[in-house]
Amino acid sequence: MLRYGAKAIPEGGWFALPRLITDGALLVGDCAGFLNSQRLKGIHLAIKTGMLAAETILKALHNNDFSETTLADYVRRIENSWVKEELWKVRNYHQAFEGGMCRAVFHVGLQMFTGGRGLHARYPSRAGHERLRKLTDSKLPQRQARLAPDGKLTFDKLTDVYHSGTKHEEDQPGHLLIADTNICNERCTVEYGNPCQFFCPAAVYEMVEGQGGRLQLHLNPSNCVHCKTCDIMDPYQIITWVPPEGGGGPNYENL
Ligand code: SF4
Repeated sequence: MLRYGAKAIPEGGWFALPRLITDGALLVGDCAGFLNSQRLKGIHLAIKTGMLAAETILKALHNNDFSETTLADYVRRIENSWVKEELWKVRNYHQAFEGGMCRAVFHVGLQMFTGGRGLHARYPSRAGHERLRKLTDSKLPQRQARLAPDGKLTFDKLTDVYHSGTKHEEDQPGHLLIADTNICNERCTVEYGNPCQFFCPAAVYEMVEGQGGRLQLHLNPSNCVHCKTCDIMDPYQIITWVPPEGGGGPNYENL
């Protein structure tokens, strides 16, 4: 291993774009979800939406008006650019996988011959966290043996974190806000088996033995590599990831 990093990608496509403007702010690139989910590429869209945003902001600066009405020009520019054209052709791509790989082959094939439409004008989809199965509904054994890393090709999470070069100011408010840790310690332990401790790629979430031998959530926020998976996949949607103070985070040099 030379470097380590992790990032959740916004592959929902055109129909998953949030509202792009509000008074004094507009969203560009990844934070708005501009990603071609078929090609898994988004840098070109980040650059282009950044350019369209800059043109809009320049006009707003001239008029000293940063209201939503003025910034609406950004949305019009996107609608009239190749950004819309490219994303429109793959608007239903990711959603075609909702029913598994075999159905996806059929739907994606159809979409390719119908300009991205396929069988439906807009394919239904569910958020990732809604697809998590409860332990009682899962057909898998409840505790699966996990492969031990060999230290040559596979590594433990703390070694991974070291190679991400992540750094945070230690003396700062936690940047992972959990609305109610009782849900983690009581409900989630029983219903989902605290999946955060497994899907977090940086060992930020740990279940440790607390009083009376009961498992309790323990956080290591300074390990965080800013992938945002926890905010997206937490089954109760009680985790909110906020930017840490001091510009800390992973160092993606050479990645
Ligand atoms: Fe990713 Fe959340 Fe873990 Fe940070 S705490 S590395 S954002 S899953």
